[in-house]
Parts: sequence; structure tokens; C-alpha cells
Amino acid sequence: MKFSDFNLKETIQAAITEAGFTEPSPVQRDAIPLILEGHDIIAQAQTGTGKTAAFGLPAMSLMKADGSVEGLVIVPTRELAMQVSDELFRFGKLSGLKTATVYGGTPYGKQIDRIKQASIVVATPGRLQDLLMSGRIKINPSFVILDEADEMLDMGFLDEIKNIFTFLPSKRQTLMFSATMPNGIRKLAEQILNNPKTVSITKSEKTNTKITQLYYVVQERERDDALVRLIDYKNPDKCIIFCRMKKEVDRLVAHMTAQGFKVSGLHGDMEQKQREVTIRAFKQGGIDIFIATDVAARGLDVNDVTHVFNYHIPFDSESYVHRIGRTGRAGKSGEAITLVSPNELRTIKKIEKDVGTTMASQVIPTRMEVQNNRSDELIAKIADTKVTDKAIELVKTLQHDLDIVTIAHLLASMIQSENSVKGKDNIGLGLEEIALLMERAMQQRGNGGGGGRNRRRSGGGGGGGYRGNRSGGGGGNGRNGRNGRSGGGGDRNGRSGGGRDSRNGGQGSRA
Ligand code: ADP
Ligand code: MG
Repeated sequence: MKFSDFNLKETIQAAITEAGFTEPSPVQRDAIPLILEGHDIIAQAQTGTGKTAAFGLPAMSLMKADGSVEGLVIVPTRELAMQVSDELFRFGKLSGLKTATVYGGTPYGKQIDRIKQASIVVATPGRLQDLLMSGRIKINPSFVILDEADEMLDMGFLDEIKNIFTFLPSKRQTLMFSATMPNGIRKLAEQILNNPKTVSITKSEKTNTKITQLYYVVQERERDDALVRLIDYKNPDKCIIFCRMKKEVDRLVAHMTAQGFKVSGLHGDMEQKQREVTIRAFKQGGIDIFIATDVAARGLDVNDVTHVFNYHIPFDSESYVHRIGRTGRAGKSGEAITLVSPNELRTIKKIEKDVGTTMASQVIPTRMEVQNNRSDELIAKIADTKVTDKAIELVKTLQHDLDIVTIAHLLASMIQSENSVKGKDNIGLGLEEIALLMERAMQQRGNGGGGGRNRRRSGGGGGGGYRGNRSGGGGGNGRNGRNGRSGGGGDRNGRSGGGRDSRNGGQGSRA
């Protein structure tokens, strides 16, 4: 079916088209008509199944945009509030529906101003309760939505939620969304919903079959090495590593950073500002590896997460489902990889049973396999690369001094050594990038210096290095590059620094 079958308001339909959504997800397919008919609903569907649009589109389609607050969405965390708010804004902007985001830890004044101008308020329970109880805001929404209701109860917000409802009009449409339906949720539903219709996405639809699930058995002391090896091997574009505890997050961030990866940690103790910055960097691709606790990463909607790693298996099946739901979103495929020690094997079996899937047991790749995998990828990548005019020019220039086979050998050595360093930056060089490397090498042979081109990561210019914090720039004492050859110059491909000379151990006098 198509979105246009729902007969949503024209401006909403236009926003859907603009967002590039073509087919409604199962929960959207079932929930949207019911909401349009005016029913209260209680809907169960996993994360990543498009619940925001499932309530947002029909509710917004029914809104008048009369300047009053017509919709209230209550969500468990600040991150989710921002995320849901962004998504709703995107659908509502053509209809003149503004959103306001309300959460704790920031000044009241601005939030209150925004609420006064908004049609939809997206709020966390604590701050919302504050605002209502103190009389700072009065709202009369016709739609009230509880998003990730199970999570809110888990976080102990039941009393706040009940209290909030005493401030809301009794004539309203209430929509409750939850990934799971424990008793507490059903009870709450009885209290706040009026003759609700139930939407439940069946198991087969629920389990995202686009997520490949694997596990690796490791000894406890091998855990860190296994993780690093697997990340090298899988070479994820973007991944989240889940830990059980904040302490573990901090330790792993230090460990992986020391290994030269560019990583960021996310946990509940972080300052709000810092969290926002971190999440944005991850979304925008400045950081490729995120290390997080469950709570911190709940509901995070980051597209293009290719891999989820469970550093430890989570305590329960719910968390497992939540975690792996960070990948394989919006119809993309993903891989979920769990490290287990032999005495955690029973937990794996239990989760498989609960979730109704099987995970394939795998063996940690050897160093050689990691290498070979990288070469294969590289060869495939090279085969796929379009030859640019610039590259042709470069080769021509090089041919003044060198014969073509030597040029090929040099280039191959260059990318091969890139390839031997872990991390995505060092692989996947297309000819275009080789051309750039060569260009820089040539320049530096001529006049020294030369900054770095930097597509995505930090550490351009003179400093920098792999993943921004790998080899460090200048110097060239032969130790700050992973291969002891850092040379100077430097960008993410830092070692082109000294052109050919730097291959012999980095005198690295440049830059
Ligand atoms: P949930 O709340 O169930 O975890 P979200 O509402 O956050 O899921 O949606 C997950 C992602 O899928 C978002 O990036 C959203 O824009 C996208 N999405 C939702 N519905 C569709 C659809 N019908 N087609 C394509 N992408 C969609
Ligand atoms: Mg959601």
C-alpha cells in the first residue's frame, strides 16, 4: 500500500513525499487509519519500525494549526525528545505546525516561550510535570501520545505520568506506544485510554530479518582484543558498542582510543551539552564508533548504523532487542555481534528463545583473515573506482621519472600499508584518493608541506593522522605513526607526508 491511500492532509502527504517515504511500515499501516478515525490506541512494535510517523502523521493531519498546543508527546529521555521533535517538525512544517522540545537541565524561559508558539510539545515527564504543576504552562491538547511507554515505566516515571494526566483535558485522543507490553503498561493503559484499539505487530514482522545476528565465544581476558579484531575485520561504517556499565564505557573509550580508533562514549553521567554534541557528531559521521550504555542509547535514531556490537551480552532479552534495533533501520541491513564468555552461553540460548531467532556462532578471525579480508575489500573497491582525469594527469606526471610498473608498485604499497592499519580510513581508497595522495606526495617532493584533505574526520592540516588521533602529525621520529613511519605532512592519510622518502622510516621534516 501507499501513504496516499490514507488520505492524509495534502501538506502532510507532501512532507511524506519529501521525506522519501514510499511504503508505510506495518505499525503505520495498522495505526494510521485507527487514529484518523478518532480511536485511542495501544500499539506494540519494536524500535526502528517507524512509530513516530505512525502517530505523528495522522495526528498532525487532524490538527488545525490554530496556534494552540494541539499535541503533546511524552517520551522517556531528552535525546528521544529531540529526535521525535525533529521528525515531527519535518512532517509538520508544510502544515504550519511548530514543535517545542521540553526537558530538564535547561532554563525554563526559552522553553516556555517555545511552547507558547508550538502546536506540538514533545516533553520528558519530569520537566513537563514541573511546568504543569507550577502553573507556568496551561495546555489543552487534543492528542496525547506516550512514546516508549515501557521505557518510561522502567525509568520510574509512573507517578509523574499519572500526575501529568490530571492536568490534561478529559476530552482527548490518547495514543500509547510501547516496544513491550508488561503488566504495568496494561494497567496504565486501562487508566488513561478510552476504549482503545490494539495494534500489535506480529512476531514475524517484528523481528527485523535484515539484521544478521552473530555471536563469538571468547575468554574473559580476550574480550578487548576480540572486539578490536572484529572491528578491524568487519570494518563497520558506523557502529555502536554496547556495554552494561558506565565504567566499562569509559574504560573501552580509553582502550580503543589508545588503539587509534576515533570513538566516543555516551552514558548517563555526561553533561547534557556534551551528549548532544556527541550524538550529533555520530549522526553526521564525524565519529564512527559509539560506545554506550543501554539507557543512554535507548531509542537513538541514527541512520546507517551498520553494526551493533555487544561487548557483553545484555542482561535480558528486551535490552538485546533494543540494542540490535539500532541497526537495520529504515529497511537497511545490519549486523549484530555479541561477545560471550563460555558461561554466558546459556544467556544466549535464552535470548534466542525469547526473541524467536537464532544467532550464528562464529570464530574470531585470525590476523591473517583480517588482512585478507581487507585486501579483498580493497581490490573490489579499486575495481569499482572510476578513473578521474586528475589521476590520469598524475600518472602522466609521474611517468616523467618512473616507469608505469614502478608507479603501480608504489601506489599498491602505499595503499597496502594503509590497509594494514586498522580502521576504515586506511582502506577503501579509491583511485581518486590515491591520486590525491600522489598529488600531495609530488607537491611535497617539490616544496614541502601541504595540508590534508579531510572528508569526514578531524585532524586535517598539519597535525592529524589516522582517525584524527592516531599517528599525530609532525614529528617523524618513526614512532608516532603506527607503522613507525609517520613522516610529516599529515591528514588522515598522514603518511604521504614525505612522499617516497617517508617510506624509509620517516625523517619527516616537513609540515
Ligand atoms: P521507532 O520509534 O519505532 O523506533 P522511528 O519512528 O524512530 O522508529 O523510525 C525509524 C526510522 O525509520 C526513522 O529514521 C524514520 O524516518 C524512518 N521511517 C519511518 N517510517 C518510514 C517509512 N515508512 N519509510 C521509510 N523510512 C521510514
Ligand atoms: Mg520511537
